[in-house]
Amino acid sequence: MKYDQSQQLLERSKKVIPGGISSNVRALWNPHPLFYDHGQGSHVWDVDGNEYIDYVLGRGPLLLGHTPAPVIEAMKAQLDRGMHYAGQTAIEVDAAEKFCELVPCADLVRFSSTGSEAVHAALRVARAHTGRNKILRFEGHYHGWFDNIAWNFAPKVDGEPRYLPKKQPTTQGQPEEDGANILVLPWNDLELVKKLFDEHGSEIAGVITEPVMCNNGSILPLPGFLEGLRDLCTHHGSVLIFDEVITGFRLSLGGAQEKLGVTPDLATFAKAMGGGTIVSAVAGKADIMDRFGSLTANHSGTYNANPVAAAGVKAALDFIADNGGAELRKAHETAKILMEGLSAIATTTSLPLTVRGLPPVFHVSFVPEGGDPIVDYRSLQQTDKEIGAKFWAGLQERGVRTVPEGLWFVSTAHTEEDADKTLSVVREVLREIEA
Ligand code: PLP
Repeated sequence: MKYDQSQQLLERSKKVIPGGISSNVRALWNPHPLFYDHGQGSHVWDVDGNEYIDYVLGRGPLLLGHTPAPVIEAMKAQLDRGMHYAGQTAIEVDAAEKFCELVPCADLVRFSSTGSEAVHAALRVARAHTGRNKILRFEGHYHGWFDNIAWNFAPKVDGEPRYLPKKQPTTQGQPEEDGANILVLPWNDLELVKKLFDEHGSEIAGVITEPVMCNNGSILPLPGFLEGLRDLCTHHGSVLIFDEVITGFRLSLGGAQEKLGVTPDLATFAKAMGGGTIVSAVAGKADIMDRFGSLTANHSGTYNANPVAAAGVKAALDFIADNGGAELRKAHETAKILMEGLSAIATTTSLPLTVRGLPPVFHVSFVPEGGDPIVDYRSLQQTDKEIGAKFWAGLQERGVRTVPEGLWFVSTAHTEEDADKTLSVVREVLREIEA
């Protein structure tokens, strides 16, 4: 692969855009941030003409692949009628009806533009509803980049107690006071959550969790963990919030809450729900969501439910849900071929390759044998990041593009042929690393 054009663009970009990139995570690329030219279906091309089978999929939004015709047609039709009115539209009601039909917890839904905003709205309405301020969040979960929730996403855990470890900001510029109402625990340890509720239950407005910890290792909840959170929140009058920004409409039509059979009070969505449009949502039980309706909790935003995004949502949800969810099933089947293929390859290599998660989003990492089972952020630290980085770079050099942290997203546009080609690239890269 040659990256000359990307490199030139990066130099130009650095003169007008800090670091030459518009989101800090894009810095983590090899050999430097790349520039892309176009995408089609499951493939994407960079400005140097390098072609990749794309498992990054915009970091999640492109569940239908690049340039999905039904979404683009619906958005184009709306663009011709106007981009934004800052008023209500019929298409947003269509999108909301479809959304509420699919998502178990969604009596009502409000649309915004980004996942971070949806989380912000969920925390606010949970606090408004309970009249309490404290929010429990878990180590290693990602809920967006806003100051009052971006704590302990990638903390140093050496020497930290498991019960209420030190609060660690994600970035410079994040005031300590913004973490004052955050409580942190390791994930998947129900006993610790019980202890916390015993001691502070009457102060806890809500518990926010990714139902599957996709942002750090695609770790599944242990049996009974989500159910335990559900019971504790019900018992103590706290709001259970699932952050389904990644899992929503992906693990099943009704998201992780449907797949795992636990219904939260509120849930946040973005990414897949719009098939690539810029959109997010907070949804949940009527008595909580009605605090927005009664104007007692504020939820605002110039671009909320703009009709172009709403048209995209309606088209994307129809596409995956039509014919009993046949298209989503296809993405699951292709992801299973990949997951099973990777697991089979793992038995043939000396490298400790592991695959974790639920289709169609899973995590590939290298876990030295003999360690503890991976159940949370702390146990995930035993993965061999050096081999992981070589593996990721080797895939990219051979035209297979995955998220640097090891996450793979699979779309309805990926084919068995893509999967077969990917698996043979994986074999080659592992052989190269072994050598
Ligand atoms: N919540 C989860 C689970 C996410 O994965 C993300 C982004 O990756 C967010 C929230 C924040 O979404 P956004 O980047 O659209 O603000």
